[in-house]
Amino acid sequence: MKIKSIEIYSHDLPVKNGPYLMASTHVWSLQTILVKITMDNGLFGWGETCPVGPTYAESHALGAIAALTQMAPGLIGVELDGLRKLHSYMGDLLNGHNYAKAAIDIAAHDVLGKHTDQSVAALLGGAMQNRIPSYYATAIAAPDEIALIAADKMKEGYPRLQIKLGGRPIEIDIEVIRKTWEVIGTNMRLAVDANRGWTKRDAVRVSRECQDIPFILEQPCNTAQDLFDLRSHVLHPIYMDESGVDINTVTRAVSSGMIDGFGMKVTRLGGLQPMTTFRDICAAHTIPHTCDDSWGGDIIAAACAHIGATVTPKLLEGVWIAAPYIEGHYDSNAGIIVREGHIDLPKGPGLGIVPDTGLFGDPIASF
Ligand SMILES: [Mg+2]
Repeated sequence: MKIKSIEIYSHDLPVKNGPYLMASTHVWSLQTILVKITMDNGLFGWGETCPVGPTYAESHALGAIAALTQMAPGLIGVELDGLRKLHSYMGDLLNGHNYAKAAIDIAAHDVLGKHTDQSVAALLGGAMQNRIPSYYATAIAAPDEIALIAADKMKEGYPRLQIKLGGRPIEIDIEVIRKTWEVIGTNMRLAVDANRGWTKRDAVRVSRECQDIPFILEQPCNTAQDLFDLRSHVLHPIYMDESGVDINTVTRAVSSGMIDGFGMKVTRLGGLQPMTTFRDICAAHTIPHTCDDSWGGDIIAAACAHIGATVTPKLLEGVWIAAPYIEGHYDSNAGIIVREGHIDLPKGPGLGIVPDTGLFGDPIASF
């Protein structure tokens, strides 16, 4: 089964009740980049990558288009007989740009699943559970507003809440944590995510002033070195998110004892194949982690659900998807949703969703 054609699409995902605020980003609408790979036997698969604007991470939509355009001609005619080989081919065509390679990787998993009549979860080693826990991430907002959202999401059945902080006086962030804790107690696990927005001084103060509250600190400061420096000065577990850019960084962070867990994004690592390596490293070291992406529609959501289902349940911190924050679905029948704080593993071969291609218009590039 050889790759016959690759089409690249661009699509806007409007944010429900936008903007969505994070420490360094205001999001009204996101440009997502979709990839359709068609094989010489007529089967096709879909992939997607959706950077959260140009400042959340070292990735952006125009970069994804450029990287895919760079690789696509060299992938035409390639025999799709294994995902490791596919990554090797992509590496020969372009250094880095994992977030663009992830779109090809996800499409390849989709089409390989259809070809072998297996779900993507089965290709990734097999699902450990079919109802996958999700978590809710608040945007940055006033303390009382976050407390109301926390109460609402607890009632909905979410097992975990992530509150976004940073970009304002630290006293307000501390008040948000306290008010949230008063509402949820131990009914939900709590993650405090400053998205690189705090100084080490701020992170130490938050941890010391909230030492009675059990939460994890997710990527409080900018760099991996910052997290390492913080380690011995805070009382709360530290999770790496934005700084976990590749498997090499992950292995270093785990072996040095720098971190206690990860918020991990499928596209940041380069797709589902490297995610299985990440998952297995974490399993070997009993490190909890999420299986998310930063944003995106049903294709990314399905990919996250499939890999999340294969994680040892006690190590899975949840699968975050953007569906609760965006309007509509690519697949009007089997779009991925969060129900009572959980996601049902999509059924059928491949990713288990069939995008309505009319939504995306004409491809912006075809090879
Ligand atoms: Mg995060």
